[in-house]
Amino acid sequence: MVIAIDSGATTGGTYEGITFQADKYYDGGSVSSTQDPIAGTTADAMYQTERYGTYSYKIPVTTGTFTIKLFMAEIFNTAAAARSFHVSVEGQRVLSNVDLYTLVGHDGAYEYVVENVRVTDGTLDIALQSVVDNGTLSGLAIYSADGKLDTSRPEPEPSNCNGYVAITYDDGPTGNTSNWVNSLKQNGLTPVTFFVNGANIGNNAAAIRQMMEVGEIQSHAYDHVDMGNYSTQQVTDQLSRNNQAIQNAGAPKPTIFRPPYGTVTNNVRSAASALGLYTITWDVDSQDWNGASVQNIVNAVARMQPGQVILMHQNQNNSLQAIPQIAANLKQRGLCPGKISPTTGRAVAP
Ligand code: ZN
Repeated sequence: MVIAIDSGATTGGTYEGITFQADKYYDGGSVSSTQDPIAGTTADAMYQTERYGTYSYKIPVTTGTFTIKLFMAEIFNTAAAARSFHVSVEGQRVLSNVDLYTLVGHDGAYEYVVENVRVTDGTLDIALQSVVDNGTLSGLAIYSADGKLDTSRPEPEPSNCNGYVAITYDDGPTGNTSNWVNSLKQNGLTPVTFFVNGANIGNNAAAIRQMMEVGEIQSHAYDHVDMGNYSTQQVTDQLSRNNQAIQNAGAPKPTIFRPPYGTVTNNVRSAASALGLYTITWDVDSQDWNGASVQNIVNAVARMQPGQVILMHQNQNNSLQAIPQIAANLKQRGLCPGKISPTTGRAVAP
């Protein structure tokens, strides 16, 4: 055994006779986890954490020949073809178009062994490349008869971000945009995502440009209407007008759409998709629209897991007041504000 690493884990542990270290030697990626039991293994806890994305492990080793066990589980997607990724070791593709759901189903363990990997450059490189959604590893174990971990070299500085969450504010721009932008900047809570209504932009293009200093402008429809019984054409009209209003105010064309009231229908989804907008709602509702206190809003943020998106509103003063405590909570948990991926709707590195 050279080293075993539990990807996405903050502590080590021994599972099925292998002693894993907490996640290390990674370069990029985000972490996520599940509480679900994992089928086909007794090492559930190891498989329940993952590092996902397009990223690599760079493990310092002496010259030698290595065997690598890769551990994977589909802890996120619940359908075939929802994920596809490649794995390369020392620059050689060893796995192509991996679709874990098709291989082992949701929450199933999958192990793949790569043998006879010769390393002569001091670093064992294991690289994941996302094709659809994200690449993912739950863990890895490395064995060798002749090579060793090279402990003579200093360990890389750990990443400051164990994962990313998306902070979002709907219904703007409002009259007090400066207060929001200043507080977000002062507390280092950037980037955030603003879901704006064109009807609220009016002549206030300056507010949109201010908001762009701390994040992205995305679509919340032109009017703040429930589109539950709208035809595709009616939705298209709302979204086209909003795209135009946002672009007229100087922001890029939106790529993500959150319908007012979170009302998603087939018409909403297909009209958005035809305009290049990925439809999302949220993972955590701060309830700021429903009178939640500053403390309740902070507590909602404290429940967020990496990759998740929280709903807040730019016209709710308690959410403005909560910004310093939100920033402190995320920092304490090693989480960073991220942007929302327009292909998966998850929070990712900005
Ligand atoms: Zn709204």
